[in-house]
Amino acid sequence: MARGRVSRYLAGMSEADPILTPVPKQRKPDWIRVKAPTSTGFAETRRLMRSLNLATVCEEAACPNIGECWTKKHATVMILGDTCTRACAFCNVKTGMPRAVDPLEPEHVATAAAELGLEHIVITSVDRDDLPDGGAKQFVRVIEALRRNTPSTTIEILTPDFRNKPEAAVESIVAARPDVYNHNLETVPRLYPTIRPGARYYASLRLLESVKRQDPSIFTKSGVMVGLGEQRLEVHQVMDDMRSADVDFLTMGQYLQPTPRHAKVEEFVTPQTFSAYAAIARAKGFLLVAASPLTRSSYHAGDDFAKMRANREARLAAAR
Ligand code: SF4
Repeated sequence: MARGRVSRYLAGMSEADPILTPVPKQRKPDWIRVKAPTSTGFAETRRLMRSLNLATVCEEAACPNIGECWTKKHATVMILGDTCTRACAFCNVKTGMPRAVDPLEPEHVATAAAELGLEHIVITSVDRDDLPDGGAKQFVRVIEALRRNTPSTTIEILTPDFRNKPEAAVESIVAARPDVYNHNLETVPRLYPTIRPGARYYASLRLLESVKRQDPSIFTKSGVMVGLGEQRLEVHQVMDDMRSADVDFLTMGQYLQPTPRHAKVEEFVTPQTFSAYAAIARAKGFLLVAASPLTRSSYHAGDDFAKMRANREARLAAAR
């Protein structure tokens, strides 16, 4: 366990039993309580993912929307295994030395998309700092397998930052032409050293900018979590930075602490504040904004893709 994590963990323990007593769970406000998943659709989605040996960020990140999304057979597939080479303070995905890349994974993802009947699929991955290309080739293989097997499915990828990897890594993914390229900034730059220590804010921003520069027809998307101790003006600055990188779609959601070992929630941001953030973001020129306590990068991604495409067409028509 990293030293920062140890001190955060110990900071939350009771004096009576400093080793064995975990931090009491923070009480969530009513607006972010969700029902336990019980539907048939949920069970079918889970069975399919297990049978194809696919990991999902829905499960690994303990997403609160899993009941709703899986009932509708929307799942976000996590490629390149279930073990991440980083240890971000907000993320529940396990950290360690990942296994070798599965050569069957691209075909399995395409089979899942076909069996679930997906019009839109979101593919993400763990960070693979151990691979020379950070896993870019596997993203390309997955996009190619989807185009071959389910050509009408639109493809959204949510990638790591490919920090310290050759520029050709991102270029190869852009050349494979996903419909949406998403990379999350996650939080404001001031909080990077504690929340996202293995990443660099401006490197992530440059990645988004370079995707748009290489292929302006690809929609770009990025997200932030709030409730980690950020100030409102800092969030507004992140919005400006994203717009300067020509990001099309902003997502904002409430950070939820997955376990007591993770960064604690500093604030439960109210739905009214989310609405205010959304209004400001729209005024800054994003094609689309999704901001609510339960918004996640891939929440309602298919419907939002359709809206984003319609908004772009409307803007182009207005400019003619
Ligand atoms: S919001 Fe995204 S990660 Fe969460 S359950 Fe839905 S598809 Fe999965």
